[in-house]
Amino acid sequence: MKLSAGVERFFTGFTSFFRSVRFRLSMWFVLVLAAILVVFSAFVYYRQVVSVRDQAAARIVIRLRELNAYLQRAVHDREIGATASPTGDVSSIQLPVQEEEVLIFSDPNGKVLSSWGTSNAQEADSVIELLGLPTVQAGASQPGMVSMPATTGVEITKPVDYLFLPTPVFVENHLIGWMVLGKPVDPDRQLPRLVITLALAVALALLIALGGGYLLSGRALWPVKAITRTARQISETDLNQRLNLHTRDELGELAGTFDRMLDRLQAAFNRQRQFTADASHELRTPLTIIGLETGRALSSARSGEDYRRALHVIQSENEFMARLVGELLTLARMDAGQVNLKLEEIDLSDLALDVVERYAPLAAQKTIRLETGDLPELPIQGDRQYLAQMTGNLVENAIKYSPDGPGQWVRVETGADNGTAWVRVSDNGQGISADHLPHLFDRFYRVDSARSHNPENNGDEEPEDGDEIPGSGLGLSIVQWIAQMHHGTVTVESQPGRGTTFEVQLPIKN
Ligand code: ADP
Repeated sequence: MKLSAGVERFFTGFTSFFRSVRFRLSMWFVLVLAAILVVFSAFVYYRQVVSVRDQAAARIVIRLRELNAYLQRAVHDREIGATASPTGDVSSIQLPVQEEEVLIFSDPNGKVLSSWGTSNAQEADSVIELLGLPTVQAGASQPGMVSMPATTGVEITKPVDYLFLPTPVFVENHLIGWMVLGKPVDPDRQLPRLVITLALAVALALLIALGGGYLLSGRALWPVKAITRTARQISETDLNQRLNLHTRDELGELAGTFDRMLDRLQAAFNRQRQFTADASHELRTPLTIIGLETGRALSSARSGEDYRRALHVIQSENEFMARLVGELLTLARMDAGQVNLKLEEIDLSDLALDVVERYAPLAAQKTIRLETGDLPELPIQGDRQYLAQMTGNLVENAIKYSPDGPGQWVRVETGADNGTAWVRVSDNGQGISADHLPHLFDRFYRVDSARSHNPENNGDEEPEDGDEIPGSGLGLSIVQWIAQMHHGTVTVESQPGRGTTFEVQLPIKN
């Protein structure tokens, strides 16, 4: 069992090695180099073959000249006349044939008269036959007319390759026959040595290329390994790892993209974690208050007034939770991208007027003057329900965070600038100090967190009918999200003690 697992692992490793980009890159590199080297070697070999043959031919030509001169001298010394059966006498002259040389003497018609160094009788005949000597009548021609070019030879493989070249033999301007000399083409065995040298050099070069290519591709691909390793190390809860690869190539770009993706993931993950923690915290407070309140009511017999007060507290906490859960649901849907806007053409001013009418009773309760400014016709494309929620949140905040009193006002107005429609909600309430402004649209952010729930001080104050439900800090983040979903923006300006203005800008419909 153990052994087979080991073998399996070995084979998996083996096959993954052959499938690796690193191996395949190196192999391609080696294959291309091998093709180049083989072509190059073949060319070098061919050039060498030609040169060796030329050298052999040159050596034979020189030797033929020497032998011919020797023959002429011998003929002269013996005073052999051209008329008296010359060929027989000439062929009988002992010529200084060297080792490895083959010399064949034939009559003008190519009939072999004598030979030296041949292994058998047929060899000389076949050489002459292969050479195809011009058939010339003895004594009928001039030296120049029957001479063959030096390169007109034949190669015959005895144990080694031989090159044969013929030369006509003249005695007193009469062709008396042919002298054919054969010499090994490659006496020093240059060609086999060259083949071995080239084969070894090619093999060595390929081996070096394979090793070098493997190392180099490994170096070039190490970021990929680093990316894989980091990706493996990253778990759901630990998104801190980064590649921090600062090379300027494609892999550096990939690693940078990967790091930026991790940044975004980590930020989203942290937001999600924070959101869950905040939501649980927000829900825990009213639950604690309800628990305390019911505990206190049940601990001993109480007056009807006490029970009424306790139920009031429980009701208000319940309302708070219901509202919070509603907002959390909206945010969860927003995050999951599950919100489908029902887009239709809406008059922004109409919508603002509806919202003002809806919040008029709340304003009246706090003796706040809820008024409208200019409300020109402003066609926009949007979801009526969400846009009403957005404007409603702003109006509600303006009322909620303004002190009660006849001097207070909340104004809602609309307008358009440069193709952008805007709805502005302003008040002359408490205002917001500058250090809070950048965080105002964050989830669960509240300027005065003491105004929210505190289980400690809830038992003694009796909530009055109409007391607004304390805020959860989610209202403005929902406003911002709705604005963004409609390709708009929301801005805020505020002066502590003087008032606040929220403005949502939305693209106008043409
Ligand atoms: P909440 O549910 O607490 O109202 P929001 O996101 O709507 O949450 O508002 C965040 C904070 O911004 C509030 O806690 C409040 O302190 C401050 N705020 C919002 N609107 C106004 C306003 N018109 N005047 C003064 N403060 C405001």
